[in-house]
Amino acid sequence: MKKKNKPTYHPETQAIRIQSERTSHMEHSGPLYLTSSFCYEDAEAMRAAFADETDAYIYTRFSNPSVQEFIDRMCALEGAESGFATASGMSAVFGSFMAFLKTGDHLLSSASVFGSTHTVITKFLPKWGIEHTYFDLTKPESVEALIKPNTKMIFVETPSNPGLDLVDLEALVSIAKRHNVIINVDNCFATPVLQKPLSLGVDLVTHSATKWIDGQGRVLGGIVLGRKELVNEVYAFCRSTGPALSPFNAWVLSRALETLHVRMERHSGSALALATALEGNPHLEWVKYPFLPSHPQHAIAKKQMSGGGGIVCFELKGGLERGRRFLDKLELLSLTANLGDSRSIASHPASTTHAKLSEAERLNVGITPGLIRISVGLEHIGDILQDVQQALEASK
Ligand SMILES: *Cc1c(COP(=O)(O)O)cnc(C)c1O
Repeated sequence: MKKKNKPTYHPETQAIRIQSERTSHMEHSGPLYLTSSFCYEDAEAMRAAFADETDAYIYTRFSNPSVQEFIDRMCALEGAESGFATASGMSAVFGSFMAFLKTGDHLLSSASVFGSTHTVITKFLPKWGIEHTYFDLTKPESVEALIKPNTKMIFVETPSNPGLDLVDLEALVSIAKRHNVIINVDNCFATPVLQKPLSLGVDLVTHSATKWIDGQGRVLGGIVLGRKELVNEVYAFCRSTGPALSPFNAWVLSRALETLHVRMERHSGSALALATALEGNPHLEWVKYPFLPSHPQHAIAKKQMSGGGGIVCFELKGGLERGRRFLDKLELLSLTANLGDSRSIASHPASTTHAKLSEAERLNVGITPGLIRISVGLEHIGDILQDVQQALEASK
C-alpha cells in the first residue's frame, strides 16, 4: 500500500492490499520467501537482531516475511493487534492453551468442540495436571456456576463443528470479564468475514486456516490472534517448541485471503438456499442452519454473524445405515474429511469421525445416528441441490 496519506481501508481491501514490502524487482504479487534463515551485513547487525534491538528476521521458526504477510492480513480481517501463525489449526489451539495454562489450572470448554481439540483437552492436558469442565454451549447461563478459583480460560467454538450450535459471545464475555478469565474462541466456521469475536470483547481468536481460509483444500495452517501482550505469550511458547507455519503455506493462504469475502458470500448464499430447499423434505427429520428461522439460536446468529456460513446439517430418517447409503448414492459431492472447500463435501460423523465413540457418547456431543454435514462449495447451487435430492431418493 502506498504510505502517503493512507486512508483506513475496509478489511476486505486490506486483506488484498496489505503486502510484504516490494523488493528491487517491483513485483506486483507478494513474493514467496522460501528460506529457513536470514543474513546480516556484519557481526554488529547480527548481535542487534538477536538482542531484539531491531526487527530483522532471524529464523523461520520465529518469523518470516511471507508468514508475516499472512498474519498482517488476518489481523486486519479480525481487527487484532497481533497474531502468530502456526502449522495447523490444532497447533494454534494447543499453543493458545499451553501459553496460558499450567499445572493446577482449570479450563472451561464447550462440550461440542472439534474432535482433536476434545482429545487434547480430555487426554493430554490432564497429563500436565490441567483440569477441565465441559459445558453445554446452548446453556451459557450454566457457565458462571462452573467457574472455579483456578479457572484460567473459557474456550468455545461458535458455530460448533459439526452440530452448528451457537453461543451469545457478548453474554459469555461479560461472564468471563467478571471473573477475570481469558476467553478464547475458535472462529473457524464463521471466518472473520461473518463474525469478529475480538470486536465483541473476546481475548483470543484461533483458526484452522486449512478450512475456509484456504478454501481449496490445499494446505494446512492455523493462527492465534488478539492483544499483543497475549499473543506474545503464544509466540514465546511456539518460537521454542516449533509449530511454525511454512512460508509456502503462508504464501498460499495470503493469496486465498484475497478472495475470502467473495467466497464466503457465495458459500453462505448457497448454504442458505440448500437449507431452505431441504427444510420439510420427507426424507429428513430436521435441517439445521444458523440463518434458517427454525434454528434454535437464530436470534443469536442474526445478532453476531453477518451470514450463516457454508455448513448445513440434517438428520436422515433411517439412522446410521441410511447415512451410509446416502453417502454411497452421491455423485457430485465428495466423501472426504475436510470442509471449507470450493468442492461440496458430505460427511456422516456417526460412521466416520465419531465411529469409535459409543452411541451415548456421540449423543452427548450432539451427533445423532443419521446426522449428515454438508460443506457447501462454490459449484452451481442447482447441481448441489440436485445431487443431495437424488441421493435422498435413492437411499430410501
Ligand atoms: C479442522 C478444525 C480444527 C483443526 O484444524 P487443523 O488445521 O486440521 O489442525 C480446529 N477447529 C475446528 C473447528 C476445525 O474445523
